[in-house]
Amino acid sequence: MTTAQESTITTRADGPAREHIDLVETYAAHNYHPLDVVISRGEGAWVTDVEGRRYLDALAGYSALNFGHSHPRLVERAKNQLDHLTLTSRAFHSDQLGPFARDLAALTCKDMILPMNTGAEAVETALKVARRWGYDVKGVAADQANIVTMAGNFHGRTSTIVSFSTDEDARRAYGPYMPGFRVVPYGDVAAIEEAIDANTVAVLLEPIQGEGGVLIPPDGFLREVRELCSRRSVLMVADEVQSGLARTGRTFACDHEDVVPDVYVMGKALGGGIMPVSAIAANRDVLDVITPGSHGSTFGGNPLASAIGHEVVAMLATGEFQERAAQMEQILRPGLEELTAHGVVAVRVRGAWAGLDVDPALMTGYELCRRMADRGVLAKDAHDSTIRLAPPLVASDEDLSLMIDVVRDSLTA
Ligand SMILES: *Cc1c(COP(=O)(O)O)cnc(C)c1O
Repeated sequence: MTTAQESTITTRADGPAREHIDLVETYAAHNYHPLDVVISRGEGAWVTDVEGRRYLDALAGYSALNFGHSHPRLVERAKNQLDHLTLTSRAFHSDQLGPFARDLAALTCKDMILPMNTGAEAVETALKVARRWGYDVKGVAADQANIVTMAGNFHGRTSTIVSFSTDEDARRAYGPYMPGFRVVPYGDVAAIEEAIDANTVAVLLEPIQGEGGVLIPPDGFLREVRELCSRRSVLMVADEVQSGLARTGRTFACDHEDVVPDVYVMGKALGGGIMPVSAIAANRDVLDVITPGSHGSTFGGNPLASAIGHEVVAMLATGEFQERAAQMEQILRPGLEELTAHGVVAVRVRGAWAGLDVDPALMTGYELCRRMADRGVLAKDAHDSTIRLAPPLVASDEDLSLMIDVVRDSLTA
C-alpha cells in the first residue's frame, strides 16, 4: 500500500538532499526523526527545498512561525538591531529591554515580565518563581512545596520538566527525577482539587495541549481551575508557549474563557521565528520574589531578542493576527470535519490550530505526514495516529484549501 509512496520519497532522498541528510545523520545526534525534506528558503507560509520544490509549511515551527517565514517587518527590525547592538548581558542595561518589557507587560495586562530564551527555560522560571512564592509569601515550610501538573503535558525537555512528563520516550532513563510534582488527568477539576493540599504552590497547565494533539479541555475547565486556584491560594500558571500569541484566534488561549492566570509562560512566536525569545509575565506580588543573583540567563533579554520581541508585541497589539486566526478557523473547521468521511476519526479546531486523529487501522500520523510532504504540504504527527496542523497566520484562504485537499488526497491515495 505504501510502495509507490516510499519510492517517491527514496527518489527525492537520492538527489542533492541525500548529502545533507547524510551529514545530519552522521554528525548530529538522532534526537529527531525528520521527514526527508531539506529546506533552504522560506517566505511567508511557503518554503523551498534544495531541489527547488515548494511546500506549504503547515507546522510553522510548532507555532514559532505564527507570522510566517521572514516576515519583512521582523527581518527589518532584526537587521537594524544587528547593525547596532546584539548582546550586553544583564550586567549592564541595553536600550532595547525596557520598551520590550513595558509593551509585553501591557499585552499580558501584568505588572512585569522576566525574559529568558527557550520555552523550557520560561517554564523552569515559572516553577522556580512559584516555589519561591510558596516559601516567601504563602508560608510553605522549606522544601515542602508541590506543584500540580496534567497528564499528557508537554512543557519542554529539561530534567525537571521531564520529571513530570507522562511520555515514556521523553522520560526514560533520565532519573533520578525531580520530586514535588503531582500529575492528574487533564480537564479534571475534581482531580486537581483532590491533589491540592496546604503545600501546593501552583497548578501548571497548557490551556490547550499542543504536543498532546491539540487537545481542548471541556468548556469551563479553565474558569473552574481559576476559581479553584484563587480559593486555595495557589498560583495558576498557564503555559501559553504554543497556544499563545494569536494562534487560537485570541492573544492567549485562556482568553476564550476570559481567564487570567497568575503567570503566563510565553515562547515560540515571541521570537518571531527568528531566534529563541521567551518570558513569563506576572504581577509584582509574585515576581518580586526574584532578587538579584537568584535567577538569570546570559542571553535572556538580550538587545537583539528584545528588539524582535518588541516588534512581535507591536504586531500583536493591533489584533489583526488574532482576527486572522479566528477567520482561518471558519475555513479549517468545515474543511477538516468533512475528512471524517475519509478515515479521520476526530477533529479538533481552535483558531488556526487543528488536531486530527486518523483511524489507526488506516495509517500512522507519520505515514500521513510523509504522504502530505510528497504532495507539497509539511506537517508533523503529534503521536501515533494523530497529526497537528498549524499553518502560519499569513497563509491565504487558497493555502488552507490546498492544505485540506492534500490531507484528503493523502488519506485516500
Ligand atoms: C514547545 C513548548 C515548550 C518548550 O519550548 P522550547 O523552546 O522547545 O524549550 C514548552 N511548553 C509548551 C506548551 C510548548 O509547546
